[in-house]
Amino acid sequence: MNTAPCPCGSGRPYTACCGRWHAGETHLQAPDAQALMRSRYSAYALGLADYLRDTWHAGTRPAEPITFEPGQRWLGLEVRRHVLIDAEHALVEFVARSKRGGRATRLHETSRFVREAGRWFYVDGDLR
Ligand SMILES: [Zn+2]
Repeated sequence: MNTAPCPCGSGRPYTACCGRWHAGETHLQAPDAQALMRSRYSAYALGLADYLRDTWHAGTRPAEPITFEPGQRWLGLEVRRHVLIDAEHALVEFVARSKRGGRATRLHETSRFVREAGRWFYVDGDLR
């Protein structure tokens, strides 16, 4: 069993954290917007383009294939806020740190999530 720590920084093994939502064959889905946000961060860290596409709302999903910056390493995630607006809408504010070619980048975003047919999707976000 893979006991490597999850990239999202939860402190749990990957297979007991975001790995559950990435493993689509189990048909498990992230149960709330924060879990989805963490799993999308981990998907960026692991280069899982299909997962990012599948969890992006059809109305805002980019038409072009999802690509990854070569050499970009994701260093950590900090979830600042998780606000449930109503049963179908939520906000998650987070800071994600990465490094590319020796240059550190900090992404501070408040993301919008919507739930449709019981499943959460990423809609879009505002950079801070
Ligand atoms: Zn995780």
